[in-house]
Amino acid sequence: MRFDRLIKGGNVVTPAGAFRGDIGIAGEKIVALGTDLDDGGAPVIDATGHHVIPGILDVHVHLALPFMGAVSADDYSTGTRAGARGGVTTLIDFAIPYKGDSLSQAVDNWHKRAEGKSLIDYTFHVCITRWDEHKDQIQGMVDRGFTTFKEFMIYESEGWQSDDRAMFGTLEKMKEYGTMLLVHAESSRVLDELIARHHTPELMKMYGARLHPMTRPNFIEAEAIARAVQWSEATGGQLYIVHMSTAEGTEIIRAAQARGVPVIAETCVQYLVLEDSVFAREDGHLYACCPQIKKPRDMERLWKGLKHGEVSVVSTDTCTFTREQKALWKGDWTKIPMGLPGLETLLPLTYTRGVLEGRLTLEEMCTKLSTNPAKVMGLFPRKGAIQVGADADIAIIHPSWRHQVVPSEMETNADWSPYEGWDLAGFSRTTLSRGEVIVDGYKVVGRAGRGKWLPRTFAGLEGTTGETSAMRMSRGPLSPIRVEDLKAAGVA
Ligand SMILES: [Zn+2]
Repeated sequence: MRFDRLIKGGNVVTPAGAFRGDIGIAGEKIVALGTDLDDGGAPVIDATGHHVIPGILDVHVHLALPFMGAVSADDYSTGTRAGARGGVTTLIDFAIPYKGDSLSQAVDNWHKRAEGKSLIDYTFHVCITRWDEHKDQIQGMVDRGFTTFKEFMIYESEGWQSDDRAMFGTLEKMKEYGTMLLVHAESSRVLDELIARHHTPELMKMYGARLHPMTRPNFIEAEAIARAVQWSEATGGQLYIVHMSTAEGTEIIRAAQARGVPVIAETCVQYLVLEDSVFAREDGHLYACCPQIKKPRDMERLWKGLKHGEVSVVSTDTCTFTREQKALWKGDWTKIPMGLPGLETLLPLTYTRGVLEGRLTLEEMCTKLSTNPAKVMGLFPRKGAIQVGADADIAIIHPSWRHQVVPSEMETNADWSPYEGWDLAGFSRTTLSRGEVIVDGYKVVGRAGRGKWLPRTFAGLEGTTGETSAMRMSRGPLSPIRVEDLKAAGVA
């Protein structure tokens, strides 16, 4: 077999487990896995002493998002460079209709942001913000290759909020089309009431940014998740809870999956590694994101949920704001642009805190960062695993070598980092996207605009095999690994 490129001698993580060996690449695809593959003169990437893992999919990203009076500071050029350095080879952003936009116009706008700039492959979730106007446009978006939709249970002031009627109706349509609804689950009426009660000059002076966690107790998320799960159970429509941050939410998901509700949960890495004592810091307002950072017991429960299966995906909710933009708050926590930089540190944080500290195996990490997100977002088997026939999207990481996080040395436009000074392993030494090297020696070398939009035809887990999500997830790392392919390639 002739190859255009080989990766040799690494610890290669496949859905069937890891093996020490080689990957043969032809064009944009993986065409062989084996040991001692013959390079036949093709260029060789030496991966000796390194882990070779599938490229990461960050399926929750906001680039250049107009939000809370600012525009988030990473766009498709800096955001995707940051991602590549963190081993991310696919991202999914959210196309949000502004003013009188239709769903189709929202997607057109987002295409314009990405085109000519994106270094890595991408697509969008389509946000439904005005149900009566948008409901008849959903099928057209499925026909255009978009299979994941999003509704927000909060953000009335941004004009994004959906009510129960909209969620119920959308889930009915998800059932009909084999697509999936993503929901930002927080309980808006009680949240607004708690914010109003605390929004006084005296309390703001006394507590500053600590009012952010004080006004969002865990039941704000838990009640909303329970309600969304109820609508999923009633309609049979596939539901995906984005950025789940609480122990209570995790318990609700576990119970729902056990009785066969087609619900999947995502957490973000900041909820796994940061605790809400950060808001007491002098620069605590920088850490405001939505939902906010929670407590150690929540972190612990989310890690356990990843291990046991009720938490299926880790993403970032990247929404970068600089120190100057965060300073808009002027002491009022309700005015802090909410969001954190994330793409560049997703893999290093999950690897360092998850794998090196024994909370997840290397294979489990790959499942949560790559295989599961690809599967539930309708991108598998093209993305999400190192196997014959898949796109050659690959990250090569050193098992233990650590970089210190120094914001000025990073690709993100953020001039600060929630992880500043942390020593993290797992930055990508070499990143390949569709067979092309886009990060080499920890430096971005790929060309802006080479990333491609990814059309999809389904989403969620039901459409693929007829198994319920709980059944599939409880099997652990899922995969149609073809043992014959491995054997044919000389891997036992
Ligand atoms: Zn988000």
